[in-house]
Amino acid sequence: MPMRDYLNCELCPRRCGVDRSVKKGFCGQTDALRIARAGLHLWEEPCISGIRGSGTVFFSGCTLRCCFCQNYEISQENKGYNISVDELADIFLDLQEQGAHNLNLVSPTQFVPSMIKALDIAKPRLKIPVVCNCGGYERVETVKMLDGYVNIWLPDLKYFSPEASKRYSLAEDYFEVASRAVKQMQKQVGKPVFGEDGLLKKGVLMRHLLLPTLRHDSAEVIRFLGESFDPDDILLSVMSQYTPMNRAKDYPEINRRISTFEYNYVLGEAEKYGFEGYSQERDSANGCYVPPFEGEKIP
Ligand code: SF4
Repeated sequence: MPMRDYLNCELCPRRCGVDRSVKKGFCGQTDALRIARAGLHLWEEPCISGIRGSGTVFFSGCTLRCCFCQNYEISQENKGYNISVDELADIFLDLQEQGAHNLNLVSPTQFVPSMIKALDIAKPRLKIPVVCNCGGYERVETVKMLDGYVNIWLPDLKYFSPEASKRYSLAEDYFEVASRAVKQMQKQVGKPVFGEDGLLKKGVLMRHLLLPTLRHDSAEVIRFLGESFDPDDILLSVMSQYTPMNRAKDYPEINRRISTFEYNYVLGEAEKYGFEGYSQERDSANGCYVPPFEGEKIP
């Protein structure tokens, strides 16, 4: 029996309105729940990865179409395998059994109704926080569907300019939509709360992946955050790990790593607003996180 939300799908801002029991939407997914990978992941921010790792589940498909996506085989080429809701619940519990500090659900928007069912099944035995790791391009209505299910929102607020979001992710309305969504996320989970183990249990960890040549756009994103939130409302993670992948070579201006000058410029903007958070080693091949911003302190 197909789930109601998939029959006239408007789960994300694309609002395709397609019947996913017979047809794929923009995200490339039918109503068949599909994931590509599940396992412990050590390369998120330290308050998420901890020492044992974050229990990550990568969902197939995506509602964005980023030309530089490093997971493009999963997000754009449909890599993955179909599973049932019961199997997804088992995966959640198995990750917990393996020692995961949290469940880390990567790009799940196109499968939110199935994910909610799986969380309902796992709930009586699930003790670890649930992280929603997404591109920020969410409808407020869909964020609300996850109220009470998601403890930690981990959105990447990518762009301010509609020209940039259209050119690189085929989403001209990105900032208009994402700026509303991230406010709703913060409203639902409140200020960051850490456990005695130093790991995040609740809150919004706002990411921003800096792209080459777009430092002024990044500054606008940071300004929006500074004007919308108090410094202790969210954590901020300014990411330097951009590597031109997928179709980035077709866009000469972003077909390179970011420079130290660009990164330091954006870090400087972030520091102005007093957010606590994370930066990344510029010379680190694996993009290790370096908590916290200079002069700031993670609890
Ligand atoms: S989740 Fe997929 S099918 Fe549904 S509105 Fe978004 S892109 Fe379209």
